[in-house]
Amino acid sequence: MNSFVDMTALLARYRAPVGRVFLVGAGPGDPDLLTLRAARLLAQADVVVYDHLVGEGVLELIGAQAEQIYVGKERSHHSMAQDDINALLVRQARLGRQVVRLKGGDPFVFGRGGEELQVLAAHGIAFEVVPGITAACGVASYAGIPLTHRDYAQSCLFVTGHLKDGSCNLDWPALARPRQTVVIYMGLGGLADICAQLIAHGVAAGMPAAVVQQGTTLDQRVVAATLADLPARVAEAGLQSPCLIIVGEVVRLHEQLAWFDQRAATTAVSFDDMLLEGGLRPAQGRSQAA
Ligand code: SAH
Repeated sequence: MNSFVDMTALLARYRAPVGRVFLVGAGPGDPDLLTLRAARLLAQADVVVYDHLVGEGVLELIGAQAEQIYVGKERSHHSMAQDDINALLVRQARLGRQVVRLKGGDPFVFGRGGEELQVLAAHGIAFEVVPGITAACGVASYAGIPLTHRDYAQSCLFVTGHLKDGSCNLDWPALARPRQTVVIYMGLGGLADICAQLIAHGVAAGMPAAVVQQGTTLDQRVVAATLADLPARVAEAGLQSPCLIIVGEVVRLHEQLAWFDQRAATTAVSFDDMLLEGGLRPAQGRSQAA
């Protein structure tokens, strides 16, 4: 008997299974904006670890077998510390599970997706990234505001309006350049400061600017105004987070191009139903996901 071969077989049999983490973008809210890959992984995951910005309709696509773990991430309460989230992902993967780490929008745009993957890489855990539609793209589309347009803007900046120390210390001269669109994530709290700084750095007080609340969802609301009067108009309308700020000449087009009718918005259907509707056969078993 060859004991070496037996030993190898034995080790292979009892080696701890190693899972995989899928860092998945959930898009800005409307479940129909998910990628097919995201929907398939949600249907087949063993465990889904998700943030507060993930839309209800997206969560409905998670398979019944999956454990769902909410880790928050609202600035305030009920959120798990980043280190604890990292440790959770490592632990779940080491149990041999298919882990979906689900984040709003795109996981690599203001989502700390890179930080989480660095920890997984350091622990030797396999991962894949599934991109999502980032808020700037999804929200601008549903608000009828093209981010670039040959007549108005040849470039587009994505910035975050929320800094760790609570200040809004952005590169104002860069943001104030002409013929570009500026999209500000997490900027609602600093809106008055942002508008004032842009004007102070040379942007016309009459520059079109908009705030979009909960874009792509039934609660989408758009307030379009000028830099000078946007803060007052948004306060008046009582817009609530999450909101995206869009500044630039392209905002003028909202009036002509707004198309989204919340009353006709999509509701979630299961991924298998979607496939069946399209004349396709739902996949069997998890191997399809890996
Ligand atoms: N990774 C995400 C961004 C996370 S930061 C992405 O790619 O979209 C969270 C910020 O995104 C919010 O504060 C808000 O500014 C913006 N945001 C996300 N979803 C939004 C939505 N449906 N409507 C408006 N803003 C949204």
